[in-house]
Amino acid sequence: MSKPVVAIVGRPNVGKSTLFNALAGERISIVKDTPGVTRDRIYADITWLDQSFTMIDTGGIEPESSDIILKSMREQAQIAIDTADVIIFLTDVRQGLVDADSKVADMLRRSHKPVVLVVNKVDNFEKFMGDVYEFYNLGLGDPFPVSASGKLGFGEMLDEVCSHFNKKADIDEEDDRPKVAIIGKPNVGKSSIINKLLGKDRVIVSDIAGTTRDAIDTAVKRNGQEYVFIDTAGLRRKSKIKDEIERFSIIRTVTAVERCDVAVLVIDATMGVTEQDAKIAGIAHERGKGVIVAVNKWDAIEKDDKTMNKFKNDIKMTLSFMPYAELLFISAETGQRLEKLFTTIDMVVQNQTLRIATGILNEILAEAVALAEPPSDKGKRLRLYYITEVSVKPPTFVIFVNDKELAHFSYIRYIENKIREAFGFKGTPLRFIIRERK
Ligand code: GDP
Ligand code: GDP
Repeated sequence: MSKPVVAIVGRPNVGKSTLFNALAGERISIVKDTPGVTRDRIYADITWLDQSFTMIDTGGIEPESSDIILKSMREQAQIAIDTADVIIFLTDVRQGLVDADSKVADMLRRSHKPVVLVVNKVDNFEKFMGDVYEFYNLGLGDPFPVSASGKLGFGEMLDEVCSHFNKKADIDEEDDRPKVAIIGKPNVGKSSIINKLLGKDRVIVSDIAGTTRDAIDTAVKRNGQEYVFIDTAGLRRKSKIKDEIERFSIIRTVTAVERCDVAVLVIDATMGVTEQDAKIAGIAHERGKGVIVAVNKWDAIEKDDKTMNKFKNDIKMTLSFMPYAELLFISAETGQRLEKLFTTIDMVVQNQTLRIATGILNEILAEAVALAEPPSDKGKRLRLYYITEVSVKPPTFVIFVNDKELAHFSYIRYIENKIREAFGFKGTPLRFIIRERK
């Protein structure tokens, strides 16, 4: 099931970043060896009670003139409408209602997306509540008072946000077609791949805000099986600000990856693998999605018998945090190995949902421990009692140990390798949860 996406929209200085950071707090997921995608706080994974969702910050606006602010706000709101399941519209009780708020509220209302109206800077409920009622005028229903800096009112706001989730989850559950997100830097050939798979040129509606979703879904049929491709290249947004372009493309990638089973990271063979590719790959890795790395434009480079191995090594180094990724060398231009993409997707989807019997897992664990002694510290040695697979997508294992502190990353990685030696699990990350049992 894909996680819902929540976007925050609002004028400059109403407290969007403050709210975002307060909600993300410690819970922001930072995977130690993944490049710094989450750290720039464009998005964060948030858990409230038993619900989890991805929150995106649609971006900062430079307050220059009111004209520009309104234009940027519309742009921001459009991104939210295109990508989010629920929109938080943030206003500021101290500045009160302003004209731009009403205009953006109209736009959000027309989108028929669930909108939660939040009034910030209500640091003292008794003192400011009287001023909150004014916000009913926006026609977005009840305003939820919060203090982002004082962390007040979050519970009711989040309950309201989460109350809009269920419908979507049901729809997603019913659709069992593999969902594939094609991700990668601009110009690596994402659209070309999808066009080639479709067998005809698809018209991309560009630069007209609001005419299409950011991620365009396309169903492709192969060997009696339907696949849904999520194209993140679809709508290109023009912006003069490099940071904004970068932000849009990350938001698009996050929301597409959130909805997919398998992410195909497209790399341009003529450019080689770069840190930016690693950053995008990190988004899929953190979310536990299946990953296929497709080196595209394979037709366009000079090759000898060493070229492919050199690429493999470069990718292994740059994407060292995902040694499990499947690798394909393709050409959208000639169609080379595009059919192989489908069999690879099938395999990865299978591996994402592979369940291993507990008895067999424990045999592997015992064998691994016998082969390489677990680490010890201050005279105390790590003991691994028991392993079991508790969930899939991605396959997740719980290992019971005597002392969590002793369960070093490197030893768990060793156990992971032993499991992979036995079952492959190609194309999918594996998760390990370490539990203490005295
Ligand atoms: P953004 O431009 O919407 O991202 O706004 P910021 O998060 O940067 O906040 C703008 C200003 O409002 C900063 O000086 C914050 O410290 C302040 N601020 C944010 N939330 C609150 C709040 O709940 N109460 C008060 N009094 N100030 C706040
Ligand atoms: P996107 O931004 O990732 O969607 O990239 P596009 O699909 O728009 O492709 C960018 C450019 O690369 C276009 O000029 C394509 O014609 C070219 N291109 C895409 N795939 C291939 C390929 O396999 N071989 C070659 N030689 N060119 C390609």
